[in-house]
Amino acid sequence: MLVTRFAPSPTGYLHIGGLRTALFSYLWAKKNGGNFVLRIEDTDKARNSQEATDAILKAFKWLGLEHDGEITYQSQRDDIYTKYIKQLLDEGKAYKCYMSKEELTELRESQMAKKERTMYDGRYRDFTGIPPEGVEPVIRIKAPLTGEILVRDGVKGDVSFQAEDILDDFVIARTDGAPTYNFVVAVDDHLMGITEVIRGDDHLSNTPKQIVVYEALGFDLPKFFHVPMIHNSAGKKLSKRDGATDVMAYKEMGYTPQALLNFLVRLGWSHGDQEIFSMAEMQTLFDPKDINKSASIYSTDKLDWLNAHYIKNTSNDELAQLLTDYNLVLTSHDKKEILLDALKERAKTLKELATLTREILDTPSSYDEKAVKKAFKGNAIEVLNAFGAKIAGADALHLPIDYHTLMEEVVNEMEIGFGKIGQPLRVALLGKMSGPGLDSVMAILGRDEVMLRIANAIAAHS
Ligand code: GLU
Repeated sequence: MLVTRFAPSPTGYLHIGGLRTALFSYLWAKKNGGNFVLRIEDTDKARNSQEATDAILKAFKWLGLEHDGEITYQSQRDDIYTKYIKQLLDEGKAYKCYMSKEELTELRESQMAKKERTMYDGRYRDFTGIPPEGVEPVIRIKAPLTGEILVRDGVKGDVSFQAEDILDDFVIARTDGAPTYNFVVAVDDHLMGITEVIRGDDHLSNTPKQIVVYEALGFDLPKFFHVPMIHNSAGKKLSKRDGATDVMAYKEMGYTPQALLNFLVRLGWSHGDQEIFSMAEMQTLFDPKDINKSASIYSTDKLDWLNAHYIKNTSNDELAQLLTDYNLVLTSHDKKEILLDALKERAKTLKELATLTREILDTPSSYDEKAVKKAFKGNAIEVLNAFGAKIAGADALHLPIDYHTLMEEVVNEMEIGFGKIGQPLRVALLGKMSGPGLDSVMAILGRDEVMLRIANAIAAHS
């Protein structure tokens, strides 16, 4: 079975780059009827925290990316790692190195003085003597000294590393017995049955080391896909300002999970020139062989555009539900259908939609000065009075009131242009000139509130 994984180190929040590789891994597993598993790489006790793990899980939950099976925590697998280290020692594929810190420093300094590359010189590789006293050894793997290590990458093609350039019998267990990063990743990927490793290309340089571990332990290699980074519009690595921030901050900013996932799937992957992908389509169409070879560019405009698209196409019931996360609880009194129909085309984010909604539902407590100057000249008060009287006189039994016809009646009777009623009415109802169509606004507010707002505006400006 095809198994992919996401393996975050919980040193902070989940960010966009991590989420994108998680999404790619998720989609590829789902497309193939396989499993997508989660491994928390929490061996660095000083830098990892439970809060960071919880934050990652929370983000996954928000986005609806479900992992299969139990979560694997590296911090709980010391026994397993120790067993494999012992196996390599027993088989002579790894050895104890008793070099002290001072000796290591000395070696490094002499190599630097000779302008040589700094690396371990293999002095304990074939050591059979009596170990020096008082030095706790590290364990080093016997890496190939010559030849090439080939990473057959599904995105980048074959990437060849020269053994002598990179490997130098790297440490697999520290003096306290703690296993090192590349060792545990290889052991876990094998034991978890991972068949395809999809991760950022910042990990490409780790891959030959992991391959050495795989080969020493006699494990089959998974397929590797190293995904190019996400850049900002200036072609630089994403910074917090460009969006390399906590995934949950996107929720706070009012992005929907669908928009964010759709945005991410297009960062570095494409299917013709299609931009909008439902989750089901992503799962059918995604293939890591179509991952672009070059870095992708993060664009807030694109994300906003997608988000507006999803907001527009979300049912009002679902929108009302989503808006509760932005402290907006719509009641049946709020005429949800008319309200959201009138507003959802205007909002780029759910947060904005919540604000626009509040701007209509909250009785204005002040009026925009410029708007007042423009709207309340001439006989505006008289016009508002006439319109108020029309509403008061409308047959309450024949709701809904046809506000538009009432406005037309005022316009005709007073022989004025439509603007002469539209502008002061808009300011009276909303406190400013902008906003959705007046017919919708009045339908949403209802007779009593419309009359109250007209009366308030007349009192404030006469
Ligand atoms: N823990 C690594 C990270 O968070 C990922 C390791 C991997 O995918 O192999 O960058």
